Amino acid sequence: LSRGLEQLRDLPAQTQDGHRVPLWVNTGLITDVSLALQRGAEGVGLYRSEVPFMIKEFFPSEAEQIESYRRQLEPFAPSPVTMRTLDIGGDKSLSYFPIDEDNPSLGWRGIRVTLDHPEIFLVQVRAMLLASEGLDNLRILLPMVASVVEVDEAVALINQAFAELVDDGYQLIQPEIGVMVEVPAAVYQVRHFAKRVDFLSVGSNDLTQYLLAVDRNNPRVADLYDSYHPAVLTALKQIVDEAHREQVQVSICGELAGEPIGALLLMAMGYDVLSMSSTSLPKVKSAIRGVSSEQAKLFLDTALSFDEPESVRQALEKMLADAG
Ligand code: PEP
Ligand code: MG
Repeated sequence: LSRGLEQLRDLPAQTQDGHRVPLWVNTGLITDVSLALQRGAEGVGLYRSEVPFMIKEFFPSEAEQIESYRRQLEPFAPSPVTMRTLDIGGDKSLSYFPIDEDNPSLGWRGIRVTLDHPEIFLVQVRAMLLASEGLDNLRILLPMVASVVEVDEAVALINQAFAELVDDGYQLIQPEIGVMVEVPAAVYQVRHFAKRVDFLSVGSNDLTQYLLAVDRNNPRVADLYDSYHPAVLTALKQIVDEAHREQVQVSICGELAGEPIGALLLMAMGYDVLSMSSTSLPKVKSAIRGVSSEQAKLFLDTALSFDEPESVRQALEKMLADAG
């Protein structure tokens, strides 16, 4: 680890006028944990629980899942670790659970799969809860939610798993539960979700894909996939405003949070937590430490004043370079 990075690890992510923004990380494999801690991560904003499922040949057993989850939760305790329930379908497939569809992004994915298979969901939630015993830093996050009905069903299953384990004598603390805002329908229901859960987390990767109707993995339309598109920026701002009106914490865990310019915009919008890959953390922290809140606010006002993405990018890159 270079000296510069090592020094940066122990410095707070704060602007020149002292506004702090917690920087958390996205993880999947066990190896992501040590890198995250080396980089000074203050928590996990997104543990992609499908990753250990994707590298196996069968569904992992409850015992195997407990072990994987414990290895994510323990090193960060008492800092929070946000574990997303299985998000398969779409661009994430399991060899032993094939889903063959013409239009997988709009098909059976995320919460839709696990609510149709409560036995898969319950084993996973039990494993998360059991792995958290004595650590109490678990947060559970629900992917691809489009309706409050899905939230209510998922929360009922989590409560059921929790009650059964407590009846069995386990010493557990109720985990915080959150919803991912990553489909356009969710953007317009922040108020309703906020009444049901403890936090929201924006998935800007899928939100960009679905708002712009651009496949996130199709190279032919890669030029059109742009999180600086005014439609995306407007939605991102609206989500924070509505969440805060309901006094619910809102974080963001898509790739945009790992780009220095994106992170400054999101901070200025008011996001409570930015979660990114560990490799992005130092450059985002440097960018935040390099500006004042007022400059970041100016960044945001500038970004929101354009009507197409390329101008947003160019203007912000110039402003960032000028800021030093
Ligand atoms: C997202 O959609 O922005 C997200 C964080 O989840 P994933 O990239 O795993 O779909
Ligand atoms: Mg997603």
